[in-house]
Amino acid sequence: MKELYANIIVDISHEKLDKIFQYAIPEHLQEELQVGMVAEFPFGMGNRLTKGYVVGITDQCEFDKSKIKSLIRIVEKDMGVESEFILLAEFISRNYGSTMLQALKTVVPIKQKVQAVEESVLTLAIDELKAKELLATYQQKDYKAKVRLLIALLENKEHALLKSKILKEKKGTPAVIKSFQEAGIIQVITERNYRNPNSNMEVAKIADQKEIVLSHEQAKCVEEIWQESHAFYPPKAHLIHGVTGSGKTVIYMELIRRVIKEGRQAIVLIPEIALTFQTVERFKEMFGERVSFMHSRLSKGERFDQFERAMKGEIDIMVGPRSALFTPFKKLGIIVIDEEHENTYKSETTPKYHAREVAIERAGRNHGFVVLGSATPSVESYYKAQTEEYKLYTLKERYAERSMAEVEIVDLREELRCGNRSILSRKLRELITERLQKKEQIMLFINRRGFAGFVSCRACGRAIKCPHCDVSLSLHNNGKMVCHYCGYEMMSVKNCPTCGSKYIGAFKAGTQQIEEIVKKEFPMAKVLRMDMDTTRNKEGHARILNAFSREEADILIGTQMIVKGHDFPKVTLVGALAADMSLYANDYHAAERTFELLTQAAGRAGRGERKGQVIIQTYSPDNYSIQCAAKQDYPLFFQQEMAYRKLMNYPPAMNLLAILMTSLQEEMLEKFAEEIKKQIEGKHKEEAAVIGPAQATVSKIQDYYRKVIYIKHENYDILTKVKDTVEFYVKQENQYPDCFIQFDFNPVFTY
Ligand code: ADP
Ligand code: ZN
Ligand code: ZN
Repeated sequence: MKELYANIIVDISHEKLDKIFQYAIPEHLQEELQVGMVAEFPFGMGNRLTKGYVVGITDQCEFDKSKIKSLIRIVEKDMGVESEFILLAEFISRNYGSTMLQALKTVVPIKQKVQAVEESVLTLAIDELKAKELLATYQQKDYKAKVRLLIALLENKEHALLKSKILKEKKGTPAVIKSFQEAGIIQVITERNYRNPNSNMEVAKIADQKEIVLSHEQAKCVEEIWQESHAFYPPKAHLIHGVTGSGKTVIYMELIRRVIKEGRQAIVLIPEIALTFQTVERFKEMFGERVSFMHSRLSKGERFDQFERAMKGEIDIMVGPRSALFTPFKKLGIIVIDEEHENTYKSETTPKYHAREVAIERAGRNHGFVVLGSATPSVESYYKAQTEEYKLYTLKERYAERSMAEVEIVDLREELRCGNRSILSRKLRELITERLQKKEQIMLFINRRGFAGFVSCRACGRAIKCPHCDVSLSLHNNGKMVCHYCGYEMMSVKNCPTCGSKYIGAFKAGTQQIEEIVKKEFPMAKVLRMDMDTTRNKEGHARILNAFSREEADILIGTQMIVKGHDFPKVTLVGALAADMSLYANDYHAAERTFELLTQAAGRAGRGERKGQVIIQTYSPDNYSIQCAAKQDYPLFFQQEMAYRKLMNYPPAMNLLAILMTSLQEEMLEKFAEEIKKQIEGKHKEEAAVIGPAQATVSKIQDYYRKVIYIKHENYDILTKVKDTVEFYVKQENQYPDCFIQFDFNPVFTY
């Protein structure tokens, strides 16, 4: 019999996840013991009998063999959700390259002992006009306390205040609050049991959502998915390719309703950005209190509360971003991934897992199913649908026969030839004027963040760079230059630090500059801007979107974040100001992202009764991603894009593993990278060709130099073997302790 060892964690709660113990597996347990089981063993100095989870089984003894103790018995073979999470963590660490502890920390909910807070919120229950009349009366009668509270409420944008705050700031007394409440002037809402993350969110009413009568096309899709998912050999996932407004959300809801009826639960993943009051409200209307929402701005405590409710069976549905995938439901029946092409579904930190693949793994273990939906599926998923790993469903019609927007390409080179140097083409300017007259709304976007202007010298041509990263600093409105990679800031300078010239300035092409231009050209228009700078605080997003949906502005200007997933019926014109900006990214996804963005933008126009119009301004009107987006022809785009991927051996034609190596010492890193290459070639010479090592596109971040190696192979398992080789080397024989390594399988951004 061979020697086998079990890796054990004693407690699966998050704060204890820092140590793995190793025990020998006695012969009589070797066959039976599996990852995820609970075993008993002597622990600590006193050899107290203790129970713990098996998180790994290996033939590598990592401690002093003579001192290692043996397991005694198996206590529990299946611990339900806990065991499932350990297996899921094992899947993640094996397929994406991370330690088991890192993987466990990803999947296990963070427990934090936080007191459930009881908060009362006071909201004005009468309209503003009435309140002002009342205020006038109180002022006449000189009711000082009442005046103070009413003013405080009126001054708040949402007309709502925390009771604790009112009392603390002496804006009101318990007696005044009570009298207001009794008179129906205010409403007092107390959140008793859980910190409700949506309590401050303003919710717009959407009528008649409860009873869904599906259209013929929608009903057919639901029926097919339902049948396919209950088949003997179900597909790995169901991909709905449906134009925006075709009712994908309605289909998810009907499937979820059926799953819940079977006594099972549902997880709905949506990109953070789409988690607006609209989504929240639609799910609330349909499923009431049985649905919960998560977003990444929740505190750890709030997040844990949500998970605990799921564990206790108090909710059936969790809606949230990537991390909601790990909601501890006991009988998970369906995982929906909306806007499945979004790259936020791929984790940016180790383990760099993809939610789509982990969802398939998790659903599989629970005999549930995965539904992916998008108007612009990722090339990867569509490819899998072509090869029948996934099953494809196509929705061609917008609900209620609303027509698709009309898309027009404007050639910016032509504009220049005609002497128009503005960022707005003549056509777009004309349409904006017309829409403003008709009191319809307009969205203008640029696919680039913030005040992207980098500062450079016109004498020597150098841009001012971050001293810690190999990137240019961006000039912000407050006069500071900021590094978007590490947060480094400095005051802007008057002279070039290299040559001393005073001809130094910012190239402005960001949202702020567009805002200035639009305001100048259309002084009567009310303009809102949404980008990183205006949405930094907690409710920034919702605030701006709500204001726009209440029609407090005519024009919304922003980065790509404004065109994704929102539904504004009054928007009839969308302008993509520099559509090709994303084409020049040094990345094989460039065309896909450009197509996606423009198609999504087109989906924003004309969501209501009136037909929408889209203007794509570009310097490369002949590029296939722009052409296909204008025609709104996804299959045609896919065909051309896939031909390119095949030619270049890029995913999904191949699997790609990126190994990122970093170090503070440049020379050391170079040697290390060469050594890694040697190790891979030593063990996998026949199988895998190593590309690199090369300098990463951003060759230094926060003083860490970065090098990258790429390995391509059809077979994903070969790549995980390469990863194991490198991992083993780094752990056992590494001569370069100051160099670090990260794995990224099928990266969404090129390094
Ligand atoms: P998608 O998710 O594909 O963009 P939605 O589900 O948001 O589409 O549907 C677009 C709009 O059409 C929404 O306002 C939705 O309420 C409405 N709608 C779609 N299908 C139906 C239906 N069967 N009954 C009533 N309204 C529907
Ligand atoms: Zn200079
Ligand atoms: Zn920096």
